Amino acid sequence: AHEGILHRQSLRESAARTYARSLPIVPVRARGLTIEGADGRRYLDCLSGAGTLALGHNHPVVLEAIKKVLASGAPLHVLDLATPVKDAFTTELFATLPPRFADDARIQFCGPAGTDAVEAALKLVRTATGRQGMLAFTGAYHGMTAGALDVSGGATGVRGVTRLPYPYDYRCPFGAGGGRGAELAARWTENLLDDPRGGVPAPAGMILEPVQGEGGVIPAPDDWLRRMRVLTADRSIPLIADEVQTGVGRTGRFWAVEHSGVVPDVMVMSKAIGGSLPLAVIVYRSGLDAWQPGAHAGTFRGNQLAMAAGAATLAYVRENGLAERAASLGARMLASLQGLAAAHACIGDVRGRGLMIGVELVDPASQSPDLPVPPPAPRLAVAVRRACLERGLIVELGGRESSVVRLLPPLTLTDEQAAAVLDRFADALAAAER
Ligand code: PMP
Repeated sequence: AHEGILHRQSLRESAARTYARSLPIVPVRARGLTIEGADGRRYLDCLSGAGTLALGHNHPVVLEAIKKVLASGAPLHVLDLATPVKDAFTTELFATLPPRFADDARIQFCGPAGTDAVEAALKLVRTATGRQGMLAFTGAYHGMTAGALDVSGGATGVRGVTRLPYPYDYRCPFGAGGGRGAELAARWTENLLDDPRGGVPAPAGMILEPVQGEGGVIPAPDDWLRRMRVLTADRSIPLIADEVQTGVGRTGRFWAVEHSGVVPDVMVMSKAIGGSLPLAVIVYRSGLDAWQPGAHAGTFRGNQLAMAAGAATLAYVRENGLAERAASLGARMLASLQGLAAAHACIGDVRGRGLMIGVELVDPASQSPDLPVPPPAPRLAVAVRRACLERGLIVELGGRESSVVRLLPPLTLTDEQAAAVLDRFADALAAAER
């Protein structure tokens, strides 16, 4: 079955298929950290549905919540009507928000993916401000629909998007690094917006990830984020925090903006909030609610199973202190990987926050005196990912030239599982290097 399924899907599916190329697995069962393939092989899943599975695969509380809705006879599709399930989800979600934000917030159900919520956020701030331009960051990832694509990646000038430097200290665009990259990035942005001849039309908003995920696991320093908040507040520019990947405890706080104390105007949420099922929302300051009734619609805004699974996940993370757990276990994993870096010149940088960890692979042999740090090592990264898979470990790549190995394990990861993940990774790295 395994080979047949892989073969048929490779013939029928779009050339754009992604994970299926690097992970020739046919999952048939999964629990917690573990996926089992049709060929009987077992894998430790540190991709977790690109960060979706905060509680791992098929957590009992998630399964129970879904079964309860199914057994109750409640309708599964109700457009955006109010239901007890939706009410419980909204209540639970608001309980996780920083009180200063929750006290004056509205929620818009979008659907069903992260990119849909990004579109809603962009449209909301454009409607509320009557302006069009957008401030976005180098290396950003916000999704694959048209508006989200405009604010992702690198190109500048797309439909009024001004591209600003993200505080990527290791490959500092100003050649500074060593902890000074964020300061220069902040100053560059402040100067640009202060310069009346800077050519930046008054924007409708600024959109950022508190930790860039797909961009290579780059945590923004708290001080940089606070400066972006001051800068936007002073100019009445709504600040959109895309917490699609960083939310629900992943970075060591329930929401990543909490590390800095920054209160954004809009928060974009998806992935883990649906407890493995598709769900996406924006939560925003009520003052921005300039929409007319029906101004933002969509058939699939009421996924009852996702709301039930999501509410159970949010409650479990909150009640079991899984954000704190992600912070402490993540710090230990980071330290262990830093130890590994000391023994391997091909590890250029190890960084992360909570259980969102990146290992940037470099090619020290191609180091040139003109470069502050060695160039990325994309071929080695592919070899490491393959060697991990051979050892039963699923990891993903991201960042500059896809040379950053990303670890996004479930927040339920035990100490023993973390040790197994690190062992397999170290072993794979050593094998790929040879
Ligand atoms: N924003 C961020 C920060 C993301 O990481 C992602 C997905 N990786 C998205 C938006 C888009 O979400 P989706 O793939 O569900 O459309």
